[in-house]
Amino acid sequence: MKVVIIGGGIAGLCMGIYLNQYGLEAIVNERKGSVSGGGHAFLMHHEGISILNELQTEADVLPGKLVDTFVFRRPNGELVNQLPLDEWQCFKRTDLTAYLSRLMPEEKLYNERSFSHFIYEGGRIVAAEFLNGEKEYGDVFIGADGANSMVRREIFGEVKFETGRVKEIVGVVEHPDLAEGYAGKFTKFQHENKGLAFGLIPTTTTELVWYIQYDPETLGDVEGDSPKDLESFCKALLKGFPSVVETVMDNNDFSTSYVWNTRDFDLLPSFHRDNVVLIGDAAHLALPFTSAGTTNAMVDAKVLSKCLKEEKDYTAAFFCYYDHRAAQVEGHVLLGRQLRDAFLNTGMAGFALPLIVDQSE
Ligand SMILES: Cc1cc2nc3c(=O)[nH]c(=O)nc-3n(C[C@H](O)[C@H](O)[C@H](O)COP(=O)(O)OP(=O)(O)OC[C@H]3O[C@@H](n4cnc5c(N)ncnc54)[C@H](O)[C@@H]3O)c2cc1C
Repeated sequence: MKVVIIGGGIAGLCMGIYLNQYGLEAIVNERKGSVSGGGHAFLMHHEGISILNELQTEADVLPGKLVDTFVFRRPNGELVNQLPLDEWQCFKRTDLTAYLSRLMPEEKLYNERSFSHFIYEGGRIVAAEFLNGEKEYGDVFIGADGANSMVRREIFGEVKFETGRVKEIVGVVEHPDLAEGYAGKFTKFQHENKGLAFGLIPTTTTELVWYIQYDPETLGDVEGDSPKDLESFCKALLKGFPSVVETVMDNNDFSTSYVWNTRDFDLLPSFHRDNVVLIGDAAHLALPFTSAGTTNAMVDAKVLSKCLKEEKDYTAAFFCYYDHRAAQVEGHVLLGRQLRDAFLNTGMAGFALPLIVDQSE
């Protein structure tokens, strides 16, 4: 059985590595020329870390920084809550995709292949064609091409996206002193009576990822699309926040920061049609409040590859995969919406850990 994977992000690379480790032929096709960026950095749940440890070869050193404490404060600095976290880790996206690319057999990873459409023979999909005219024939096709998945559109048509209502501005700032001072901590300053929060997490010994979550309906939005416009908007939003926030803003390169229009969609009734199946953000999307996306993408790859190895045919494997994943994925979609509503409904203003927890917890 030959498996053609479309998209070489976290989900696609993990899938390719697992299948090759299981001795199944799998080819990853990524539209970008090299390791893909976007998303800057993310927090990963320990379920994702254990998958990385499983995929790792002896010589590899995992990228990423341990995050073992969540610190929740008000913009005036008041400490609301401080909790230990169970082995979360923060990764720069480029470090993680570069790391996973190295674990993938070089000859089975094709860059600069942007999926265009499927080729059918006798009513059955037999190949994926790319914008450069190249074709890859196979028996099974996996759509790992992210939130705007073209593979999903080809097999299911348009999904109905729900707006996330909250927007997120994300940046990475170089600041060794802050990275040292905030080492191991996910710090969040959240307003008591507006939908506004600032988060900060070290990604390396010298860099930190930061984000602003805001409600554009009540707080307005960025006017213009230059880095200067973004900087002015961020600084105005964060007036009155502690000096660490000001330091981050003053040291940030706003040409590399961007605004994330959050959205999600309901659990799909199936992740496959015929011999095509979806994984990662192509299959499901949770709002940013859960930090579930990367871990889910990796768990999908682990479960689907195991099902493909063990089940009698790919159809049985696709049902096995959906049976294992649907409930957890739906739980994360709903949790994301609940956390978003709590964030917007400032009357509630209580404390809710903005992360997924173990199924057993
Ligand atoms: C700002 C931001 C912050 C985030 N923070 C977190 C966090 O803290 N924790 C967390 O768990 N998750 C976070 N996420 C979500 C996380 O990044 C995603 O859930 C995760 O990357 C999903 O992996 P994926 O491989 O399914 O999709 P993607 O990472 O989107 O990868 C899809 C890949 O497919 C490729 N592709 C797309 N179209 C085509 C095509 N036509 N042909 C070929 N290739 C194609 C893309 O280039 C890309 O490499 C964040 C996302 C954003 C945007």
